[in-house]
Amino acid sequence: MLTSLHCRSGGIGIRARLKIVCRKAWEFESPLRHLMSDLKELTRKVKKIVEMYKGEYPDVKMDRDYFPHKLTEEWGECMKEYLMLTDRGRQKGFTKEQIKQNFSDEIADVFGYLLAFADSEGIDLEEALEKKWFVHLKK
Ligand SMILES: [Mg+2]
Repeated sequence: MLTSLHCRSGGIGIRARLKIVCRKAWEFESPLRHLMSDLKELTRKVKKIVEMYKGEYPDVKMDRDYFPHKLTEEWGECMKEYLMLTDRGRQKGFTKEQIKQNFSDEIADVFGYLLAFADSEGIDLEEALEKKWFVHLKK
């Protein structure tokens, strides 16, 4: 995968940078390592929002199943906006720009609840992505 990206871009600068990053297979560093450290910061912010929400709505029962159910709810909202965006749902008087903004908002909800769910179950997303996805970049 890294090789095809390398070939498509074709830039000598990228080739030189990859050569530095990947001198030897065992020295490989994920080019997404900065994104990964950001995941922990995003999770920290999401948890802060969840705590604020708990304070604001103490009657909402947030048991172990809360995050996966909210994730499902938000994914449904996200798909509703996506169907509208792709002309497979009623437009309801919204402009395409408004629908795109709503879609963006709902994707943010999905991602936020995914981070909260992973964290609540003790999943280190950085480690999980490295093991399941980015290991293929090291081949
Ligand atoms: Mg939503």
